[in-house]
Amino acid sequence: MNYESVIGLEVHAQLATTTKIFCGCSAEFGADPNTHVCPVCLGLPGALPVLNQNVVELAMHIALAAGCTIQPRSRFLRKNYFYPDLPKGYQISQFQSNEEMPLATGGGVDVPTEDGGTKTIRLTRIHMEEDAGKSIHQEDFVASGESLVDVNRCGVPLIEIVSEPDLSTSEEAFHYLTSLHQLLVYTGVSEGDMEKGHMRIDANVSIRPVGETRLGTKVEIKNVNSFRNCQRAIESEIQRQIGLLETGGEIEQATMLYDPDRNILRAMRTKEESDDYRYFPDPDLVPLVVDHAWVERVQNQIPELPEAKRARFAEDYDMSADQIEVLTAGRDVADYFEATVAAGVQSRIAANWIQGDVMRVLNDRKIAIGDLRVSAESLAELIGLIDKGDISTNIARTVFDDMVETGESPAAIVEKKGLVQISDAGELDGVIDQIIADNPDEVERFKGGDQKLMGFFMGQLMRATKGQANPQKASQLLREKLG
Ligand code: ADP
Ligand code: MG
Ligand code: ZN
Repeated sequence: MNYESVIGLEVHAQLATTTKIFCGCSAEFGADPNTHVCPVCLGLPGALPVLNQNVVELAMHIALAAGCTIQPRSRFLRKNYFYPDLPKGYQISQFQSNEEMPLATGGGVDVPTEDGGTKTIRLTRIHMEEDAGKSIHQEDFVASGESLVDVNRCGVPLIEIVSEPDLSTSEEAFHYLTSLHQLLVYTGVSEGDMEKGHMRIDANVSIRPVGETRLGTKVEIKNVNSFRNCQRAIESEIQRQIGLLETGGEIEQATMLYDPDRNILRAMRTKEESDDYRYFPDPDLVPLVVDHAWVERVQNQIPELPEAKRARFAEDYDMSADQIEVLTAGRDVADYFEATVAAGVQSRIAANWIQGDVMRVLNDRKIAIGDLRVSAESLAELIGLIDKGDISTNIARTVFDDMVETGESPAAIVEKKGLVQISDAGELDGVIDQIIADNPDEVERFKGGDQKLMGFFMGQLMRATKGQANPQKASQLLREKLG
């Protein structure tokens, strides 16, 4: 029997607000445990939540970017469950039912397919909710059998983006997550810092015989924190399910945890139904009403999105498909590229430099392009020096590294270090004569027809001039002198 897999993802993304969703506490990561707290996010009796308007704004940004419909009226509900990291005993969230609406419904995210096309993964909804705290179980931190709780994260704003079960493979799931991440960061909705847990994924996985239209029983893999791990977790769950069915077993609806270190899934619990959460409208929060003018205002603030930018780059600039991917992966890099071109550099050359040396430095130093000490204008100036014949491309690369280090202008570095290229025939003549005098054997062999020795002579010449000889000029002179 041939099986196909069906996957739907629930992605929690942390919004880039400075404060929490229902109180004024800082939402910043990394503070001392239990210092960003107040009666509201601790859930003390009598404390009243007040919705952070910025949370709604950011949620609307991603919803509109993904083509969702903003619901004119939505509610916050209490999702009741007990867990040590949830002092209130409930999480304020949104829900979709006959009675209640979340902030946004519908829409979709495009993912690339294997054949070079795209496929739209439909979204069910995007809703807002608060995060829970964090239990700390590390053995080196607490006495055995004990756990600690840090409630700083309680009330940090999240959106949950729920997809329809439209994904067919673990790889498609990976692409979906990458596209979504890019969209969240482009729109400024989330910083998307995976190391700080800004995106956490629940993956729902089922299989069915090819040709079957009904969905199979799904297993939910909870709380995966990287895209590759998510892909691997889905893949091993698909294999597990196929193995089960092929040996006459049956799939039980369940919630699993993925252990990335051992690449195994552990059963966490048999899944509770939403009824178990006893959702009911939070009586402390009025319904959220979003009028048309507000939607329109946010719509107008949405920047050019990755897909549109890729299409425009392909149209307007001379670069490879690979370079389009790299240069549009982040808005900041794309802007830097366009500023370099605006400063007079040909798009192909700017693309090569940014994809090569600029990205190398960003990766090595783990910095954003905004923190690079070489502005787009300085890069253009550097490339201009190559065009003028003042320096060779090789020298330019060392000047670039110097610019990264010092923030100085390329002209100043070339001047200070005396790196101007030697194109002067008189000056090169002397060096070449010396090389010919020093290497009589090689000269003899070259004259006897061993053309490969040209490389040897150029090497000698570059060594003697510390790489500053103009390569075209030098090789031309060498050929003349060697006959
Ligand atoms: P629950 O109530 O268990 O959270 P939902 O119906 O709300 O289930 O769906 C949650 C997620 O699971 C959605 O992303 C949805 O696309 C996905 N999903 C639902 N049924 C299946 C299935 N049979 N196989 C794979 N994914 C599914
Ligand atoms: Mg769920
Ligand atoms: Zn608080």
